Amino acid sequence: MSVNISEIFGTNVFSMAVMKERLPKKVFKEVEDVMENGGNISMTTADEVANAMKDWAVEKGATHYTHWFQPLTGVTAEKHDSFITAPEDSKTLLQLTGKQLIMGEPDASSFPSGGLRATHYARGYTAWDITSPAFVKEMSAGTILCIPTIFVSYTGEALDKKTPLLRSMEAIDEQARRILKLFGKTDVKKVTPSVGPEQEYFLVDREKYLKRRDMIYTGRTLFGAPAPKGQELDDQYFGVIRERVGAFMADLNKELWKLGIPATTQHNEVAPAQHEMAPIYAQVNLAVDQNQLTMETMKRVATRHGLVCLLHEKPYAGVNGSGKHNNWSISTDTGENLLDPGATPNENLQFLLVLACIMKAVDTHADILRCSASCVGNEHRLGAQEAPPAIISIFLGDQLDDVVNQIVDNAESINLLTAGHLDSGVSTVPIINKDATDRNRTSPFAFTGNKFEFRMVGSSDTIADANITLDAIVAEAMSEAADILEKADDFNSACRNLIHEWMVKHHRIIFNGNGYSDEWVAEAEKRGLPNLHSLVDAVPSLTTEKAVALYEKFNIYTRAELASRAEIRYETYAKVLRIEARTMVHMVSKHYIPAVIHYNTRLANSISAVTEAVPDANVTVQKNLLSRCSALLAETASALASLKIIHAKVDAMENMEEMAHAYHDQVVPAMQALRRPVDELELLVDKDMWPVPTYGDLMFEV
Ligand code: ADP
Ligand code: MG
Repeated sequence: MSVNISEIFGTNVFSMAVMKERLPKKVFKEVEDVMENGGNISMTTADEVANAMKDWAVEKGATHYTHWFQPLTGVTAEKHDSFITAPEDSKTLLQLTGKQLIMGEPDASSFPSGGLRATHYARGYTAWDITSPAFVKEMSAGTILCIPTIFVSYTGEALDKKTPLLRSMEAIDEQARRILKLFGKTDVKKVTPSVGPEQEYFLVDREKYLKRRDMIYTGRTLFGAPAPKGQELDDQYFGVIRERVGAFMADLNKELWKLGIPATTQHNEVAPAQHEMAPIYAQVNLAVDQNQLTMETMKRVATRHGLVCLLHEKPYAGVNGSGKHNNWSISTDTGENLLDPGATPNENLQFLLVLACIMKAVDTHADILRCSASCVGNEHRLGAQEAPPAIISIFLGDQLDDVVNQIVDNAESINLLTAGHLDSGVSTVPIINKDATDRNRTSPFAFTGNKFEFRMVGSSDTIADANITLDAIVAEAMSEAADILEKADDFNSACRNLIHEWMVKHHRIIFNGNGYSDEWVAEAEKRGLPNLHSLVDAVPSLTTEKAVALYEKFNIYTRAELASRAEIRYETYAKVLRIEARTMVHMVSKHYIPAVIHYNTRLANSISAVTEAVPDANVTVQKNLLSRCSALLAETASALASLKIIHAKVDAMENMEEMAHAYHDQVVPAMQALRRPVDELELLVDKDMWPVPTYGDLMFEV
């Protein structure tokens, strides 16, 4: 398949270039101005934009439009309405008005609100987010014009992920500009966070997937014995991409490019049938939209290839799970990246101040940062012997670590470690300049040259929460720094003092060692760093006075919004676990127990038949198997009965927080107790009689 990227890139996006071409100059100027400086566009302008958007979409084959928003489910929502108007003389016009573009009122009562709407009004409104471009999506339902919107309640509370994200961007923009002003950079009009999310995923054959109720209902396997081969040979990581997977990737790229998503990196990941796609980074609100679209497109394209794309954080036990590395930086409209240390970070006061702010922010708010990456599937990764640990720390690498240590030690002058050259010893290979930092794969928050890589986010999760949190906590530290430094008589020495003070105070957040080790867990405890094992332990961090003060200061969340988001996290946790528990009960009752009974009967028949034919024949193999399988069958039945009893009790609880904790403390162990005998049976029972595809079938036959 040959593709001309420059011909297809962005063809499905109503971009600035398209607007410039299609809108009268004055109208375009007004739109551009609102995009850059905020404010409202007039109704006549909205009408003109809407009409141009409709004409453009119709030329692309669009029949419907939708407000496209990101409710608190973590995925996107859309409701299609066609462009047609009421027919007259059996003719109809195609129309999109300014009002339809700007505002919608979907029946919002079925979206999670965490109790917000119960106490206020039931109405929810979608409002056009002018900073994210509209696009057309080609689906089997037709070609649909998607208008990115925020989603708020009648009284203005955010009911989505986009509204607080936009608010957090405004906070960091304002505070970072105060810092830059202190360094004489008054020409900066805008500071924006940028993000490049690396998306991991698994592919599985659709036919096999459809034979597993656990994958269908929960997106992961709830049972399954390990295959003889796992990831131990490291032959999958960066390995040659198999043909069918390659065809999927090529198709995916094409679809993403049309949507203006700069998909660039693709490779096989560590686990069998695991892969990764990374786009080129974009400003954060666009990156959030694009990541949502990427996940959706991955699923859609997979079905065309007879595959299913699994975005769950842990589809299979025993091999690596999937995450989403959130590469985050902040840059100015004048082209400066505030996280770029330059050649001499030891002398770069502005960079060191920004670094001190980030150290302070991450140390002060480690709990909410951890919480921002808490989705139910991520429970199997964070703090569960897999990348990364649940303890937040910062990795700086040798060079910066050394600079920070010298500052902490109050050194007279600060020296710089140089990386030197890499000499491979092969005369024909050029000598290369080494990076000043080696990589550290176990850190949850790692400095990687000119950005921080937040590695905790789950593969299925929106990246909105992580970035709202990052923007907010760094804005707070910058605001405190600016409060102090704006008053200083001698800026340079005040700035040095502040950097020293904060780096001393927050030095405990720096950790350059192995984040998976038990020593680190002990060390982190000594340092007083929070180790929030589970989502249910992390949620209370959202509503502490510290968190409320932070978010209210920048109008990102009100106390009520935070309480509602905490409630939704508990509720979602309980709901997902409920589905998992029910699915286990279903599979054991309907699939596994009948299959084992069938197999046991066959063994018993074999024993009778063989003994009848040859009375002194040796039937110990059948007998041993039969007694082992019977014992495991009994164990399965008893674990099933326990799970049902425990689940019924927990599910009857009324308080959401208590219910979530009870699911975690009681139902999860009961689920594990049920899985164990079933997985052991899988290794004993005749493969032809086993009711579902095995790990080997799922991971190695893609
Ligand atoms: P890795 O080696 O960890 O895969 P890459 O250099 O490939 O890292 O980058 C991963 C992601 O980080 C990509 O999406 C890339 O666009 C993004 N990225 C690169 N530079 C920046 C930056 N300054 N700010 C934000 N994201 C960035
Ligand atoms: Mg990476």
